[in-house]
Amino acid sequence: MMKEDIPLMFWGVRGTLPVCGKDKVEYGGHTSCASIFSPEGDLIVIDAGSGMKKLADSLVEKAEIKDKIIHILLTHFHLDHVWGLPFFAPLFSDEYTLIFYSDVSSAVVKRHLEKIMSGRLFPVNFSDTPSKKIFKRVSQKGFEIGEAEILSCPLNHPQGCVAYRINSGGGSVVFATDTEHPEKGVDKRLAAFSEGADIFIYDATFTPEDYKSLRKGWGHSTWLAGTEIAMEAKVKDLYLSHFSPDFSDAHIKDILSQAVKEFPRTHAAKEISECSEEEK
Ligand SMILES: [Zn+2]
Ligand SMILES: [Zn+2]
Repeated sequence: MMKEDIPLMFWGVRGTLPVCGKDKVEYGGHTSCASIFSPEGDLIVIDAGSGMKKLADSLVEKAEIKDKIIHILLTHFHLDHVWGLPFFAPLFSDEYTLIFYSDVSSAVVKRHLEKIMSGRLFPVNFSDTPSKKIFKRVSQKGFEIGEAEILSCPLNHPQGCVAYRINSGGGSVVFATDTEHPEKGVDKRLAAFSEGADIFIYDATFTPEDYKSLRKGWGHSTWLAGTEIAMEAKVKDLYLSHFSPDFSDAHIKDILSQAVKEFPRTHAAKEISECSEEEK
């Protein structure tokens, strides 16, 4: 993949809860958020977890965003995937247009986002923020942002979740966190959806041991299941993400050392690291 054509950045790679500590510096403690600048300069954000604050800071520092439009692909509404939004500076600027994409209706998206930014939970109501907001419902047929094609696929997660595939500039990225693998084999629908992707980002919340003993039915997966579906889908690079808040840097490195034995081109997603940097 010509990664320079799709610079993918991770702004948060934890699931469940932001964490900090000297044993969690290397991979970072923020919850799920990633971004891609398409070759045409469109900014596409996937998930609005706590890492979204760092994305906003980086935009202030450097980027000229095309037409001041930011495309936000929401996977679902569990708090670890939306609680960066109230701290996302462009939300509070009338110069910006935020386009929210989701697999549920506009009314449901608005209701959920207004819930986390209203009442006694947050001092400013979501609907009172000055940015222009547009809501779009995605279908599995896909849609386009500039020249990038975006596809979605349902995942196996309580209250639902979707994976996104972004095909752009000769490369493809699949973002598939918050999903539980089947009892036997791999999720065939997700494998077909991810077929041949250059970058495949997958839910590695639990170790296989924890999953078997305690966490079945919680809607999450393991690094081992990630390597199995990566092989089945013949992806190029697997990025493990959505790490448990309990995982230390050393533990993630240990997981990675086991995973590369199963699927050599496995990486552990790192907060604020460009995919290609790890390969230098
Ligand atoms: Zn999550
Ligand atoms: Zn979730």
